[in-house]
Amino acid sequence: MTRVLVVEDDPQLVRALKINLQARKFEVVEAGDGATALRLAAARTPDAILLDLGLPDMDGVEVIRGVRGRSHVPILVLSARHTSEEKIRALDAGADDYVTKPFSMDELLARLRAATRRREAPASPAGIPGIATDEFTIDLAARKVVRGERTVRLTPTEWHLLELLIARPGHLVSQRRLLLEVWGPAYSEHTNYLRVYMAQLRRKLEANPSHPRYLITEPGMGYRFEP
Ligand code: CA
Repeated sequence: MTRVLVVEDDPQLVRALKINLQARKFEVVEAGDGATALRLAAARTPDAILLDLGLPDMDGVEVIRGVRGRSHVPILVLSARHTSEEKIRALDAGADDYVTKPFSMDELLARLRAATRRREAPASPAGIPGIATDEFTIDLAARKVVRGERTVRLTPTEWHLLELLIARPGHLVSQRRLLLEVWGPAYSEHTNYLRVYMAQLRRKLEANPSHPRYLITEPGMGYRFEP
C-alpha cells in the first residue's frame, strides 16, 4: 500500500483528500503543521508527500528543505499561491511537482501516481545507461543520440541540458536550475537562452518540434522530459 503524508492545515481539504486517497487504497498520514510534518516524514517514511505551502508554523519550503536533507521521497506541492516565484522556490528546494488550488481530485491523483512511479526510476544519470523512446534513443555512456537510423549531433550545451532533463524523467526542472547548471550564476535570469537551446533540441529530437512530445515547456516555470 502506498503511504501518503498529507501536510495541510485546512480541515475540509484534509477530509476531502483523505476520503479520495483512501478510496483508492492509499494509506493516509496527516500533519496539520510543518513541525508535525517533519517528524512524521522521518518516523513514518511515506512513499509520497502532499504539501501545502501556507502552514501555520512555518513556510512549506522549509519543510521541503528539511525533508530533502535526508530523503528523496516525492513531494507534490499544493499551492494556493499563484506567483510563479513561489512555485519555483518550492521546486528549487526539491519539490517534484505542484498542483494549484483549487485542483480536481483526478488531476491530483494523476500527478501523485506519476510522482510515485518516478520514484522507482533512478535519480542520477550515472544510474541510467540510456533512454529509449519511440522517436530516439540516448546512450549516456557513449554520449550518443540515435534517431531512426542516424546519429544526431548535439553541441556540448545541448547535451548538458538534455542530461539534466532526462536525469529525472517526468520531473519539472526549473528555468533557474537549468541556467545555473549549464551557464552559471551570472546567467540565472537569461531565460531566452533556454528558449533558443530547447528549440534546437526539439528540432533535432522531436517529430513535430512545435508540438513537442518529449521536451515539454511549463510556461514561466521550467521544462520536463516526458518519457
Ligand atoms: Ca494553508
